[in-house]
Amino acid sequence: MLESDVAVIGGGVIGASIAYYLSKENRKVVLLEKDQLACEASGACDGFITLQTKRPGIQLDLAIKSRKMFSGLTEELGRSIEYRKSGSMIVIEEESQLDLMEKFVDSQRQAGLDVNIVDNKEARRLEPALSEHIAGASYCPSDGLVNPMLLTIAFALAAEKHGAKICTGTEVSSIKAEGGKIRSLRTNLSEVKTNVVVNAAGIYASFVGAMVGINIPIKPRRGQLVVTQPSPLFIRSGLNDARYLLTKLWPDQVRGSEDELDKLSGGLAVEQTESGNVLIGSTREFVGYDKGVTIEGITAMIRRSTRIIPRLRQLFAIRAFAGLRPYTPDGLPIMDMVNNLESFVIAAGHEGDGIALSPITGKTVAEMITEGKVDPSLNSFSLGRFEKDHTQTTGEANPR
Ligand SMILES: Cc1cc2nc3c(=O)[nH]c(=O)nc-3n(C[C@H](O)[C@H](O)[C@H](O)COP(=O)(O)OP(=O)(O)OC[C@H]3O[C@@H](n4cnc5c(N)ncnc54)[C@H](O)[C@@H]3O)c2cc1C
Repeated sequence: MLESDVAVIGGGVIGASIAYYLSKENRKVVLLEKDQLACEASGACDGFITLQTKRPGIQLDLAIKSRKMFSGLTEELGRSIEYRKSGSMIVIEEESQLDLMEKFVDSQRQAGLDVNIVDNKEARRLEPALSEHIAGASYCPSDGLVNPMLLTIAFALAAEKHGAKICTGTEVSSIKAEGGKIRSLRTNLSEVKTNVVVNAAGIYASFVGAMVGINIPIKPRRGQLVVTQPSPLFIRSGLNDARYLLTKLWPDQVRGSEDELDKLSGGLAVEQTESGNVLIGSTREFVGYDKGVTIEGITAMIRRSTRIIPRLRQLFAIRAFAGLRPYTPDGLPIMDMVNNLESFVIAAGHEGDGIALSPITGKTVAEMITEGKVDPSLNSFSLGRFEKDHTQTTGEANPR
């Protein structure tokens, strides 16, 4: 039998980050991953640390704190995570989108973000690969890119260095609680004695919640991506387009649109990785747990991206894949300690922002556990915001 102070369920970027920040605080941590590290969303995504796609308010504030942490992270974790302060750009294709973008950028600047609207000439000076037809762009020089898989692995290995035990191929099947307190977990390999459980199971967080009778409203939202052959660097920043923002933040504005990528609630998301491959995305679809790619998705992403970045036409697409984002109904993650069950912690539901928010989530959740309470400033991330009484049973584990 394994013994720990804290058992973290899920070896994605969120679980690995929490394991790292907790073990740094000398907590005895066990990280339990049913398959391999970064085998789900954290290994099937982009690496944008783009703040200019976030709404001003609690979401942007959290992202600003997280982005600051990235600058020292490579050194702190002691291995490459392919982080670079690349800048990010939202391409404004049509003049008619300028007004909305100017207002949005204004609100972000007021919230402390270093973002500007630039004209066609400046946008193409910054990103020479952009098409001549664009109206302009918004540009944020402090945004960055990271390799999500390397980041997840770096968090886990750094946690291991601080004494955490990383158990892959270890699936949690039940959680035992007595008198409203967590006692242990059962996995396919053994029992794990623990007082604290962190549910960082991404799209499976609702199943882990069900093990203790708690309803967690997280569901999968598919994102498809196309990968090109490697090429010398010709795209510097993380690139989105204004329609990406519309489908993400104001979906009502594109409802009924005939555009093929709008129909998949998608938008332009293009980055060139350190190895030279270009990642072209993405869609936002509710299709259950289906991780397949579709002709409609691939065609829509390639048409939109080659229109905005014509040079992409010269590259071969070598692969396509899809990941499942952990979606919550209001687009904010859940970071909370469940009231009626001591100490069941939830850290999941980061949808399309989990990579960017991973350092601050790890630090915040580690503090929550070491202090044994949830700071009132985290109210917006509570489970309770979704329903008044989310607990089906109090303190009773799901016997399986
Ligand atoms: C196409 C796409 C593009 C994206 N682009 C970006 C981006 O540019 N920037 C950004 O910030 N975010 C992006 N995201 C979002 C980001 O990928 C996610 O928010 C993040 O990876 C979620 O991490 P996680 O650790 O919560 O979940 P996951 O990575 O899914 O990890 C959860 C882990 O829990 C494990 N698990 C589940 N149940 C059990 C169990 N019972 N026992 C043991 N282990 C269990 C799973 O195997 C899994 O490994 C993107 C997502 C997609 C799909």
